[in-house]
Amino acid sequence: MTRDQRPIPPAPLLETRGLSKAFRGLVALNGHAITVWERDIVGVIGPNGSGKSTLFNVVTGFLKPTAGKVLLRGVPISGRPPAQVSRLGIARTFQGTRLFGQLSVLDNVLVAAQLRHPTSLPGAVLNTAGSRAARRAAADTAHELLALMGLEQRAGQRAASLPYGDGRRLEIARALATRPALLMLDEPAAGLNSGETRALATLIGEVRDRYGVAVIVIEHDMDLVMTLCERVQVLAQGAVIGEGTPAEIQASPRVRNAYLGSESDDAA
Ligand code: ADP
Ligand code: MG
Repeated sequence: MTRDQRPIPPAPLLETRGLSKAFRGLVALNGHAITVWERDIVGVIGPNGSGKSTLFNVVTGFLKPTAGKVLLRGVPISGRPPAQVSRLGIARTFQGTRLFGQLSVLDNVLVAAQLRHPTSLPGAVLNTAGSRAARRAAADTAHELLALMGLEQRAGQRAASLPYGDGRRLEIARALATRPALLMLDEPAAGLNSGETRALATLIGEVRDRYGVAVIVIEHDMDLVMTLCERVQVLAQGAVIGEGTPAEIQASPRVRNAYLGSESDDAA
């Protein structure tokens, strides 16, 4: 290889720089910066109202930033609509469950899988070999993900009838069906008991190993964050006030003051 054919060093999977979002007077996100590499598992913690969900909304295109940049593999994506961001490889779940309640469990995942294996309208009408193959690929993906999430037995049930914990895992299956490079989970353990939370942490680790996705997880459950995440970022009032390994974060006086020492703030 000659000198000028050296490979360009890879860009991080996701990068935010000076990312800010203001709602009228309120600065919900203030100069946020993070670097996430392929297969990273990063936790984002912080008191209620510290801007965690706003960060997810800005990265995934549900909100436009007031300032700053979001880069996916070095390419600016800030301001693109959610459907485009999803096609580019970022999938997310929401803080509250958002499933298609009247659809079956399987169809909830199929709808997302078909975004990844699209059929053209003429192809679908004419039932061409290509469109049949795309439908089969989507169905295979959906069944594989339901099995992984322990939901295969419930495939035919209406999503609205699922027990709470199953619904949360269905949301993750649906996000994965788009075959993302980055999975963003907003409080996936909220409402789960401690056994379910531990099982979920194991499952998220398995998802990373199996699909090679990077994961950013917002979570209040410290056990989940500390066992699952390799790196943790702490937000307070929209700004990053700490970042490090779980052990470094737990030992940081600044973080303890702002957050870990005031967990009662989050009881509601
Ligand atoms: P977190 O997820 O860390 O609890 P959020 O990102 O949801 O915090 O909220 C950060 C701040 O921004 C809060 O003060 C919240 O009230 C405000 N906020 C969030 N979304 C909106 C919105 N769509 N319109 C106005 N204010 C908002
Ligand atoms: Mg939130």
